[in-house]
Amino acid sequence: MAKPKIARINDLLGLLNGLCPPGLAEDWDNVGLQVGDPNAEVSRVLVCLDAEQAAIAAAEEAGAQAVVSHHPLLHRPLKRLTPADETGRVLFRAIRNGIAVLSAHTNLDRVADGLNDWLAARLGLKSCQPLERPQDGAFYKLVVFVPVGHETELLDAIFAAGAGQIGNYDRCSFRTVGTGSFRGASDSKPFIGAAGEYEETEELRLETVVPADRLQKVVARMLKAHPYEEVAYDLLPLANSRQDVGLGRIGVLAEPLSLQAFAEQVRQQLKTPTLRMVGDPQREIRKVAVCGGSGASLLPDALRQGADCLVTGDVKYHDAQRARAEGLALIDAGHFATEQLMVAELTSRLRLAADKRQLPLEIIEMTAEQDPFFTLC
Ligand SMILES: [Zn+2]
Repeated sequence: MAKPKIARINDLLGLLNGLCPPGLAEDWDNVGLQVGDPNAEVSRVLVCLDAEQAAIAAAEEAGAQAVVSHHPLLHRPLKRLTPADETGRVLFRAIRNGIAVLSAHTNLDRVADGLNDWLAARLGLKSCQPLERPQDGAFYKLVVFVPVGHETELLDAIFAAGAGQIGNYDRCSFRTVGTGSFRGASDSKPFIGAAGEYEETEELRLETVVPADRLQKVVARMLKAHPYEEVAYDLLPLANSRQDVGLGRIGVLAEPLSLQAFAEQVRQQLKTPTLRMVGDPQREIRKVAVCGGSGASLLPDALRQGADCLVTGDVKYHDAQRARAEGLALIDAGHFATEQLMVAELTSRLRLAADKRQLPLEIIEMTAEQDPFFTLC
């Protein structure tokens, strides 16, 4: 009889990394497993915005062994671990109750089908593109030499691992025919020719692009699928930027709206009782930039890409002044309201990913989180 399948924290981390690769996170960020034993069993997972004590309490009540939060629990080195502060209290309580904490932060902000796409879709934006794109280290060029006739199998393997995607096109590659030469040592087992003999053979030079976060997987699959004992290949870092990932999104409304009407729509869609705005309420809004959380630093990107309005949270006085001076409308809908929608969305993505891998995980959504700010009417 087949043993019933169990899931471990490491499996959950694998699901999360598959949805939002950690390589997309900002350098200063701390994503992934925050506290917990990767080998511990897990059957129930609670998804939330903040791994505060309330989330750990909700996980205890629900019988969950893991919490997946957006904001990382640990974001600066700890000098002591005591219950004297909130981080210490959360860590103590989580460890005592066998609850692991995992976080997906700026990787979830940047990834395609991540927080900013969900926010843009909620606000009715179409034809969305990233507002800011990571520049360096996002792509590698992979060049590999393969004997003629073996290229299809090799390309299938590396494309399946995530290579060859350029914007909306997949299986992108280039090939040239040439002559490869080699001589194997006496103890080698060459695929073509014999050990110790100089050989020349017709080979293809295959070129394709690989996102940095898929590099290890692509190289491993390539080495497995290649017929040669020793594979000749080059990995070249590229300065190209990725078109599918990045902070924030910019898109267009189906119908232009006045700033006032659009702000009302934002307020309703994000279920926030209050928001602040900069700009003439009657001005027309069509092209909209969004960034969940604190996105005022993307103000220059919004201007450069010709946005009429930027929707974000945590806008400071001088950012508001600058937006007014530059003629960019601003809607500050709050950090909480522009990010809390990730809870339901990530819950549904994790459920699908767990089903696909046949992992016995019950993913539940924390619904009781509240904005620390409230409005005095
Ligand atoms: Zn945030």
